[in-house]
Amino acid sequence: MFMQEALLEAKKAFNEEEVPVGAIAVFQGNIIARAYNQVERLQDASAHAELLCLRQAASFLKNWRLLEVTLYTTLEPCTLCLGALLSFRVKRLVWGAPDIRQGADGSWISLLSTPHPMHTLEVTKGILPELSAQLMKEFFVKKRRQKNGEDN
Ligand SMILES: [Zn+2]
Repeated sequence: MFMQEALLEAKKAFNEEEVPVGAIAVFQGNIIARAYNQVERLQDASAHAELLCLRQAASFLKNWRLLEVTLYTTLEPCTLCLGALLSFRVKRLVWGAPDIRQGADGSWISLLSTPHPMHTLEVTKGILPELSAQLMKEFFVKKRRQKNGEDN
């Protein structure tokens, strides 16, 4: 299933010492873009998996209006990414685990609680949340160990 493909992207982030979040974009049943978090590599706080994936999808379709695209992401999107999902006119969002720190679809704030005047985004939440949450947990445990010098 598509969420598993997004999880594969999250694992790539994990292996590159990035917070493990992955996203894929699906158009007419095919994956047209895949991306993972690259905040550390690019030193860019906006290099989130979702945003990178939306840009790739628009580039692939040669159209910034992603009206028939579904974006799958392993983590609840932040304000930036949820805002971008609306701006790119994405049809449907599917996300995995909630993000209590940055989640903009209810965990921190609810950006979609006020209807957007131009566009309605369909949302399906909580798909394979345990796999995504487990990866996040392992990542932060690993980071903590590295910080404490246990890996040296
Ligand atoms: Zn984001």
